[in-house]
Amino acid sequence: MNIHEYQGKDLLAKHGIAVPAGHAALSVEEAVAAAEKLPGPLYVVKAQIHAGGRGKGKFAELGPDAKGGVRLAQSVEEVRANAEEMLGNTLVTIQTGDAGKQVNRLYVTDGVDIDKEFYLSMLVDRASGRVAMVVSTEGGMDIEEVAHSAPEKIRTITIDPAQGFMPHHGRSVAFALQLTGDLNKQAQKLGKKLYEAFMAMDCEMLEINPLVVTKDEQLLVLDTKMSFDGNALMRHPDLAALRDETEEDPAEVEASKHDLAYIKLDGNIGCMVNGAGLAMATMDIIKLNGAFPANFLDVGGGATTEKVTAAFKIILADDAVEGILVNIFGGIMKCDVIAEGIVIAAKEVELDVPLVVRLEGTNVAKGKEILANSGLPIVPADDLGDAARKIVAQVKEAA
Ligand code: ADP
Ligand code: MG
Repeated sequence: MNIHEYQGKDLLAKHGIAVPAGHAALSVEEAVAAAEKLPGPLYVVKAQIHAGGRGKGKFAELGPDAKGGVRLAQSVEEVRANAEEMLGNTLVTIQTGDAGKQVNRLYVTDGVDIDKEFYLSMLVDRASGRVAMVVSTEGGMDIEEVAHSAPEKIRTITIDPAQGFMPHHGRSVAFALQLTGDLNKQAQKLGKKLYEAFMAMDCEMLEINPLVVTKDEQLLVLDTKMSFDGNALMRHPDLAALRDETEEDPAEVEASKHDLAYIKLDGNIGCMVNGAGLAMATMDIIKLNGAFPANFLDVGGGATTEKVTAAFKIILADDAVEGILVNIFGGIMKCDVIAEGIVIAAKEVELDVPLVVRLEGTNVAKGKEILANSGLPIVPADDLGDAARKIVAQVKEAA
């Protein structure tokens, strides 16, 4: 789960990390009120969307010469003018795709006198089983370019979670940022606090770009992107409450309400599978047969009628879907119960695309009988390969 910059900064501040003062705003009046609470004379008005690259982004409605999604303002009146221009318009950045994202929230924050811009991020590195802290002196809006042209300027420090953040990790961070004196000490402390915040909140990723040195020699977090491990959110109701569903794919939001793991993909064959491993194998075999999956969908252990119906509706709401492959292994769930669920669900949603069903496991014969006697044009399949060949052929035929 991702959150907005202003939410991330509030969380970091709670963990004792220095961020500039600022307030979120949903309207022009709120933006003006936010600016009035800040000391000035320099303000920054920042679009709050779940995507980076805002500074270099362009508003679709404002033409190529308009300013981007991060704007300096010299007065409260300028904050007002910028808020009027930004709110409700669509910001297109390198991370939003061509469609862009509508800006519904702003963050009005203190303008900072910047001396240097660094990069610092943390993520769970599955290969090493550690937390990786990635730092570079070349932060700011061109970090992707640095990764290409000068990868040696990006350093990775890994921290073993069993050991925690040790003083030598802090020294490595400060050294990689080429800091001396008091700034060196600030960097060591910041590294430790960031690591502790990352672990305490079960973060998946925490990126600070830029981390700046101010003209008066303070290390400050000027931008942050944060995401949390969805499987750990039950431990953090306060973090779960920060979710902004308007920033997410509507089909994925709907799926999560039914406890379905759904990810939209680019192909035309909808998949309904139980178990993530089987779902991945199903997508692979569709590709092996020359077609592409329209989604990943794991209905989970208990594929009840209600869940199967919800899953069908979500898959069919995608205009790209030209056929559906159901691949269910009845282990704890019995195949006849699943078959009944599929029949009821297929009738309810008035299925109008080819449907291939592969069932295997407990009571499979009974399950197949129910499908055959349903009066629905369901194509049964015997195994995974057979199922994939059949759905790809059916879709080609229908086209
Ligand atoms: P994004 O990464 O989405 O482009 P940032 O928050 O990193 O957005 O802002 C882009 C750039 O704007 C930063 O690299 C920095 O130079 C400048 N900037 C951002 N916030 C401030 C601020 N509070 N004061 C001064 N400059 C800022
Ligand atoms: Mg940034």
